[in-house]
Amino acid sequence: MSPEIIRTRYAPSPTGMMHVGNLRTALYEYLIAKSMGGSFILRIEDTDQARQVDGAVDIIYKTLHSVGLQHDEGPDIGGAYGPYVQSERRDLYRPYAEQLVEAGKAYRCFCSRERLEELRASSEGGGGYDRHCRDLPQEEIQALLDSGTPHVIRQKMPIQGSTTFIDAVYGSITVDHRELEDQVLLKTDGYPTYNFANVIDDHLMAITHVVRGSEYLSSTPKYNLLYEAFGWKIPTYVHLPLIVGSDGRKLSKRHGSTSFEALVAEGYLPVAIVNAIALLGWCPKDNRELFTLEELSQAFSIDGISKSPSVFDYDKLAWFNAEHIRAMDKDAFLNWIRPSLEQAFGGPVKEENLLAELLQPRLIRLNDLPDMVRFLTTQQNFDLELFQNKKNKMDLQKTAGLLPKIRGTLAALTVWDRTAVHDSLQLLTSENDLKTGQVMWPLRIALSGQTVTPGGAIEIAVVLGQSETLARLDNAIARISA
Ligand code: GLU
Repeated sequence: MSPEIIRTRYAPSPTGMMHVGNLRTALYEYLIAKSMGGSFILRIEDTDQARQVDGAVDIIYKTLHSVGLQHDEGPDIGGAYGPYVQSERRDLYRPYAEQLVEAGKAYRCFCSRERLEELRASSEGGGGYDRHCRDLPQEEIQALLDSGTPHVIRQKMPIQGSTTFIDAVYGSITVDHRELEDQVLLKTDGYPTYNFANVIDDHLMAITHVVRGSEYLSSTPKYNLLYEAFGWKIPTYVHLPLIVGSDGRKLSKRHGSTSFEALVAEGYLPVAIVNAIALLGWCPKDNRELFTLEELSQAFSIDGISKSPSVFDYDKLAWFNAEHIRAMDKDAFLNWIRPSLEQAFGGPVKEENLLAELLQPRLIRLNDLPDMVRFLTTQQNFDLELFQNKKNKMDLQKTAGLLPKIRGTLAALTVWDRTAVHDSLQLLTSENDLKTGQVMWPLRIALSGQTVTPGGAIEIAVVLGQSETLARLDNAIARISA
């Protein structure tokens, strides 16, 4: 027998943003396929038109694209099992429902909406359907059909016994048939319900692994009974653990941003988000933490998925972000920060390369950038006490004497770059018999108003430019001698 070709699918219902949980499902589907040389399929499940949200499909495409989850088949690129949007497959489901009616595994239900609503309102039916039409005599069915009474097709669930299946993560799961409602497969308008279309499509698209959140675990027997009714092979189920916040409660807005878009807007890199999400329920054998998507595709395996709830930790995400920022290619980093940099500086930044060099080892989230460069974009009103520095044996008096000399040295420069500024200050240092720190400390304070800055005095002066450097020195000189 030839080995099975692994096929997974991400089957989102386009109902809004792409949340951390959705992205994890898509990622694991992708990784399971790629780690076994299989195909990753995108299918849009839009049977429930009422829940559609405009623009949601675009968000799905955009998100998958920006994290690099390239599908092998899907609505936009086609494939041998199309169409890949359920609303375009509408006419394909009815014959399957009819087939089940023929085989006695499903039945026509003519109950009116009013009756069903009453049933739901009364406790009698336990909130579910009471199987009123399950055993209607054939003549009655025919008469109702002849009179054009609208009807749905319902699955005939076994009344006794139970269904057991093996989930790749949760192990053996058993559900009593008593708990299963005779669910609708085909609605009065002839369109399939979500559950029915999902099974038919997974079968027709030759899906081997169904990966989804654990909230689907209890309805999986319903799907399995459909597969069995058709005599189809049941796929491997991989249900994923609940994602919780640091307090152990289901992840929600309360904990922080939960959509991919919002996290990106807060300054997280897609690669860092993917890295953090990959470890939400999966652990590699060697406990390694840092991964690119490519590396994940090599390392991933279903047996590393755990069933215990996984914590989405924002501090950890920040750590991943910092690590991925450090690992970025210089140009990629500059391209990534440029829009924020230009916004902070109010236009193109002459010394952007130098700034990128200073920021790359220090930045944690892109949104922190404006604060990190604020001392450059606006002159800070600082406490003159900052000039006091024991280590460098500097006090206000010495500083007051030295600052004009530094100003004079820098004002004389005709070339303004790192080497020129450095060499001129070094000369000043040795001519005055000072230590490097004794010049750099007051200069850094005068220019930045901070004791800690990305980069030292020389880099700050270069980024500020000569005239701003001199202006800030003048200001400090005026204040210290006032
Ligand atoms: N359309 C379902 C959802 O968005 C997918 C369920 C499944 O993967 O089977 O939750």
